[in-house]
Amino acid sequence: MDNTADLQVLLGSSYPLIVATARDERRLLRIVRRAAAHRGLPVWTWSATRGLAREGLAGQYGTTDPRQALDWVAALDDPGVFVFADLAFDDPLVVRHLKELAQRARPGQTLVVTGVAPAVPPDLAGLAMPWSLRPPGPDELERLVRRTMRDLSRRGIAVALDDAGVSEFAATLRGLSLGEAERLVQRAALGDGTLRPADLPGLRAAKAELLNVDGVLELVEAEVGTLGDVGGLGGIKQWLERRRLALAGGHPGLDRPRGFLLTGVPGCGKSLVAKSLARTWELPLVRLDPARLYGKYVGESEQRLASALATVDAMAPVVLWIDEIEKGFAAGGAGDGGVSQRLLGTFLHWMQERDDGVFLVATANDVAALPPELLRKGRFDDVFFVDLPDSEARERIFAIHLARRGHEPGAFDLPALATAADGFSGAEIEAAVVGATYRVLATGDPLTTAELATELAGTVPLSTSRGEDVEALRRWAAGRALAA
Ligand code: ATP
Repeated sequence: MDNTADLQVLLGSSYPLIVATARDERRLLRIVRRAAAHRGLPVWTWSATRGLAREGLAGQYGTTDPRQALDWVAALDDPGVFVFADLAFDDPLVVRHLKELAQRARPGQTLVVTGVAPAVPPDLAGLAMPWSLRPPGPDELERLVRRTMRDLSRRGIAVALDDAGVSEFAATLRGLSLGEAERLVQRAALGDGTLRPADLPGLRAAKAELLNVDGVLELVEAEVGTLGDVGGLGGIKQWLERRRLALAGGHPGLDRPRGFLLTGVPGCGKSLVAKSLARTWELPLVRLDPARLYGKYVGESEQRLASALATVDAMAPVVLWIDEIEKGFAAGGAGDGGVSQRLLGTFLHWMQERDDGVFLVATANDVAALPPELLRKGRFDDVFFVDLPDSEARERIFAIHLARRGHEPGAFDLPALATAADGFSGAEIEAAVVGATYRVLATGDPLTTAELATELAGTVPLSTSRGEDVEALRRWAAGRALAA
């Protein structure tokens, strides 16, 4: 359903108060106007600078004070949609007026309170319906890019974008509001006096910055290779290869793959899989940090999650990576007034209802902390357990990391190194290669198998120092997870 249809339904329901999250106020107003027109309702707007006014008419004298504006609406019998921009929810008197008004609203009267991240105060919890404006879709963004191009040309700025370039610009801007997208395109053009494909990397960087304002979403530009540069993990690679066709949407009989949960021994490549998967599929990778969802106001955390998920939906096709998912959706979070329970509810709902095109890779270190609902069949396509690499995988990991640092893997006795690194994680093997490289750099000698073996001998791997923890992880995984 699109935003206008969504809002029409809300206006037709009996909610007297809608709390709308929108980064783009002008766009929200356009959508409110359309939805209201459909229901034959007039639109009134209020802001602290202009006061209350019916659209197209002069403002009401003395209504810049929000309490007076709310009283004014309370005295009105006519139906209408009353949009209050950036109403101060931290003023208890305003909240009280709003509550009384919402309780007494006449049929056909709806208050819409808007803001970038408005949090519903506890007093209004049962009366207010939170609603998020979804970011614009690909068509809207493409129209915006073309409109901005015309505007720039009129101002004498050179525009060198063909149709493919326009689509690429629009795709890069996905997840942003129209206002933000327009500003970024303008900025890209004004920076060097032309708008051209070479502006794309700068555009991506600027967008990554915008998405990360509250630290919840991060656009990851990973310096990693493809899945071919991951040692071992044949189970996952085969799983992904089999689903490649279905992911492309080319197979009507197959459900699209939606994602998996990775758990396992630390340092064995969980994060690496998320990054190199996005690289292999040539999709953007967005990381959601669940620990950053928690805000101090009632409803704030849920709003943050809802808005982050809406942004991710708008960026599809995309790989969404949730690292340490247990930090946001831990089981038994009773001590936080139910916030983590509500977050989990919002998240599960999204997992169930989301459109195709968002492939979810979640990683968990502490699986025991995860709520069972999240692990129930049907949420993730599968749960994988990433164990320590076997001997063949260790050889491959040595080869990958040696080659990455300019050494010729064929010059080393890889089977002997794999044997010496029994019980080492991928990260520990990498650390040994890095350590030995530094050591020979100091002496000027070439790196040899013997140097690497010395480095390994001087390291106690986690599987030895915390052997019991690793065993506990394996016990959990037996029968619950597939071998990665
Ligand atoms: P943690 O649970 O500690 O976050 P993780 O399982 O996510 O660990 P990664 O961050 O993916 O581990 O691994 C750290 C680094 O170790 C990787 O960036 C990579 O360089 C190296 N590494 C780990 N496993 C592999 C592997 N299977 N193949 C190649 N390199 C690996």
